[in-house]
Amino acid sequence: MAEAHQHIAALLSEERVFEPPPDFVAGALVKDRSIYERAEADYQAFWAKQAERLAWFRRWESVMDWQPPWVKWFVGGTLNASFNCLDRHVEAGGGDKVAYHWEGEPGEQRTITYKELLDEVSRFANALKALGVGRGDRVAIYLGMVPELPVAMLACARIGAPHSVVFGGFSSDSLRDRINDAEAKVLVTQDGGYRRGALVPLKANADEALAECPSIQHVVTVRRAGNEHAFTAGRDHWYHELIEEQIPDCPPEEMDAEDPLYILYTSGTTGKPKGIVHTTGGYMTAVTATHRLIFDIHDDDVYWCAADIGWVTGHSYIVYGPLANHTTSVMYEGAPDWPDKDRLWSIAERNRATILYTAPTAIRAFMRWGPEHPEKHDLSSLRLLGTVGEPINPEAWVWYWKYIGGGRCPIVDTWWQTETGCILITPLPGVIPLKPGSATLPFPGIQADVVDEEGNSVPLGGGGYLVLKRPWPAIARTIWGDPDRYVQTYFSKYGPDIYVAGDGAKRDEDGYFWLLGRIDDVMNVAGHRLSTYEIESALVDNPKVAEAAVVSRPDDVVGEAIVAFVTLKSGYEGDESVAAELREHVAKKIGKIARPHALIFTNDLPKTRSGKIMRRLLRDVARGRPLGDVTTLANAEVVEQIHDMVQTGARTEE
Ligand code: ATP
Ligand code: MG
Repeated sequence: MAEAHQHIAALLSEERVFEPPPDFVAGALVKDRSIYERAEADYQAFWAKQAERLAWFRRWESVMDWQPPWVKWFVGGTLNASFNCLDRHVEAGGGDKVAYHWEGEPGEQRTITYKELLDEVSRFANALKALGVGRGDRVAIYLGMVPELPVAMLACARIGAPHSVVFGGFSSDSLRDRINDAEAKVLVTQDGGYRRGALVPLKANADEALAECPSIQHVVTVRRAGNEHAFTAGRDHWYHELIEEQIPDCPPEEMDAEDPLYILYTSGTTGKPKGIVHTTGGYMTAVTATHRLIFDIHDDDVYWCAADIGWVTGHSYIVYGPLANHTTSVMYEGAPDWPDKDRLWSIAERNRATILYTAPTAIRAFMRWGPEHPEKHDLSSLRLLGTVGEPINPEAWVWYWKYIGGGRCPIVDTWWQTETGCILITPLPGVIPLKPGSATLPFPGIQADVVDEEGNSVPLGGGGYLVLKRPWPAIARTIWGDPDRYVQTYFSKYGPDIYVAGDGAKRDEDGYFWLLGRIDDVMNVAGHRLSTYEIESALVDNPKVAEAAVVSRPDDVVGEAIVAFVTLKSGYEGDESVAAELREHVAKKIGKIARPHALIFTNDLPKTRSGKIMRRLLRDVARGRPLGDVTTLANAEVVEQIHDMVQTGARTEE
């Protein structure tokens, strides 16, 4: 279609298609597309069928009650999330199955069965009750990737106390703000964690935060590193001492389907963190169904979601989804390049992992480090790969497919958000042909669309705003303590029945969705609305480039000029001739209009702690503005370096 009619220009065209491999299809749970038709014919009935896979104490009276924008699912039903993750499997004779193969960064290994997990969760649930935690009380959890993290979450779920997990890499200020927003009564933390061989003093950070957290009555500390820290008598307790005093039996609370299961603050790429509230029945239904169908979960799988439980990916696809499906998971505490850049591959090999789910940022790092690291290991057990977190550049996708998947594993590129609770746009790996860089199609029962400024559906081939036009069971019910912000953020642009994701997207002629990044990142160059993702992907398409971030700065001639920050693969040096080559490459790949005006070669890019490129800060740098909020940044020093480079003119301009 003519570009002038597009809300966001769709320039990149990716021609490669990967059909589901016949071997994979032969064993797949979903082998044909009829599931899409059935779900489309009656989406409520589809979700009700998924809900029947869970154990309910009382069956719901109606599947859905929608008073836009407010929705309730499985109204009148009661259940318990921890019972669904643990007890029912143990009662059915599955207690000896491994829930987690855990590995610490220093190298120790632990195997935890479903029965052991149930016992420990029950003990800790009793301990929380003994500390005065009851239904509806909030518990903050500030832990690294240790087995006690899922234990603490499930113990909260067991007694009906919503948890608020704060990523262990966050500072004491971030922890303080989140504790105070949720008014948590108890904090669960650990003495210290390991990251790249260094000690992360979690308890000391927590103590700093707690100086300004009046709601906290008790602190439970898990002993992990054995490091010294302060101990406040009466308030502080050791986790191991508390659970020793308790019996491994704690009846699960009967929760209403709409009772909150947890609060999780979004990573804050775009501003003040929002406490996203997920409820019990709908959330459990949707994460269990999506996990099973998208990852094609079989009884003998060894599934590894390499995210951190501190993000929603870990909540839904390390804890609640996999456990509800009685899956064996791998869980790793530390950094992927510690002590060497093949750490993940050695863990995958040793555990004979069959499914790996990670993020584009990690894949681009693997690309930068080179294929010799995975090549040292036997990864033949892998049969399915996944990605989440950012749009994946086609070259990174193909690299992942070739070097990690050995050319035999489908890749599920899964689009979703903290707010959506579960994956919404994704291939089902046994039926949907894949196109590198596309999250393909909405999950059965999901109605997604791409619309223009007025809310009209943009014809296939064009770009615009991604919206969801009907509810699904795991949608966030509100923002904690701020329902107005919930309505304002997600349901005000096109009315209360249309959820606005805040991402740009285009659909190709086959109806496939291509995510174009955040709407806030879209640039206006000479009258064209360009997405950063397509220019970045064109840059990453050049064999010298590992990663790229594109932003704009005001320009008298073209309105906004394109500034590209580029990280090259190891072995390459950025200079004028590489810059010229890259400009030419972008022009050839997507058109002259998208050629970067300025190119800056950097060793790294500023990322959020969940690994996403923070274009907002690069925009500040490119425009010579003071830097915005950097508290959610993982690598603050990088912005300083880039800032200095720009100041000293270490860039190539055209
Ligand atoms: P905040 O909302 O606080 O700024 P955030 O959006 O980074 O933080 P998340 O909810 O973890 O927090 O991330 C969801 C966003 O990540 C999506 O809106 C989208 O921009 C991006 N994303 C996730 N998965 C994909 C994917 N498969 N393809 C493209 N983009 C993705
Ligand atoms: Mg977001």
